[in-house]
Amino acid sequence: MQKISKIAVLTSGGDAPGMNPCIRAVVRTAIYNNLNVVGIKQGYKGLIENDMYNMDKRSVSNILNLGGTILKTARCLEFRTDEGMETAYKNLKDQNIDALVAIGGDGTFTGALRFSKKYTDIAVIGVPGTIDNDLYGSTYTLGFDTATNTVIEAIDKIRDTADAHDRVFFIEVMGRDSGAIALRAGISCGAEAILLPEKETAIKDLIADLKDGHLTSKSSSIVIVAEGDKHGGAYDIAKIVGKELANIDIKVTILGHLQRGGSPSSFDRVLGSRLGYAAVNALLKGESQKMVGLRANEILLTDLEEALTSHEFKLEEDLMEMAHILSI
Ligand code: ATP
Repeated sequence: MQKISKIAVLTSGGDAPGMNPCIRAVVRTAIYNNLNVVGIKQGYKGLIENDMYNMDKRSVSNILNLGGTILKTARCLEFRTDEGMETAYKNLKDQNIDALVAIGGDGTFTGALRFSKKYTDIAVIGVPGTIDNDLYGSTYTLGFDTATNTVIEAIDKIRDTADAHDRVFFIEVMGRDSGAIALRAGISCGAEAILLPEKETAIKDLIADLKDGHLTSKSSSIVIVAEGDKHGGAYDIAKIVGKELANIDIKVTILGHLQRGGSPSSFDRVLGSRLGYAAVNALLKGESQKMVGLRANEILLTDLEEALTSHEFKLEEDLMEMAHILSI
């Protein structure tokens, strides 16, 4: 078993609330186990540009409550090239770093896996940090809970004004390939319809449901649209529907980047702490090319390869059906 003495941690891809509690857990668990820790700024970009600094236990004081990531994040094209990876490897070796904790989504894991297959003397553990909740091997990913709560808070406010004016609101939430936020927020806010990229939207049924709500004296209707819906964004769908519902006042709100920010929820603080702690303990046990994830309230390891290839998201048809029935 390769003995490790110095580890590096980075956050990469889209930022997600809960990354900071995770960084804190990685740093403090490492120090508790007499490991040195290096923080890499801006994900793989900092790895290639040698933008790293030594962290101590006070480097992560008072960050549990902060959204974003103190290490910053970036998308880095150069890391996709062999030359970029070689520079990254050289920078790690120059600092005697022998293990890496990579916090991010599937792109981050793809990079981490390619890198650790090429350079097997650097152990790599991935932590699922993405608001999309779309990684196999973890029922929940870091940031999903906070982002969903943020969406709920915004939609509750929109419901007030929609109700006051008897309006239909189309609200677009994040999720190019994943309807996870849309579905949870839809159930939580009693949305009249939830449109997801995983399921073809029957526009005719949507129009019929909205008409029915209007005829049965619903004072407002909320349609949640995940940004990856096949018919387009909230504006496109509102336009199509509006042609058939000329007597109903329709408005559109795009929630946008506010969904990424904010103080992590209790759930994400605990999850980030557990995953960061588990990532370092996995490295200490000699693990590599694995992802730490939450399953049935246990932190378990999944091969990065499997986490990426078994990536298919199962649409929770039962929840969709329930949401539909409960919103009549
Ligand atoms: P999110 O799910 O929030 O978007 P992500 O980790 O999937 O997060 P990406 O931008 O897809 O975000 O990936 C993050 C970074 O991972 C990329 O900017 C790139 O540096 C690296 N990466 C992605 N795919 C590869 C690949 N095939 N080879 C090497 N590196 C990659």
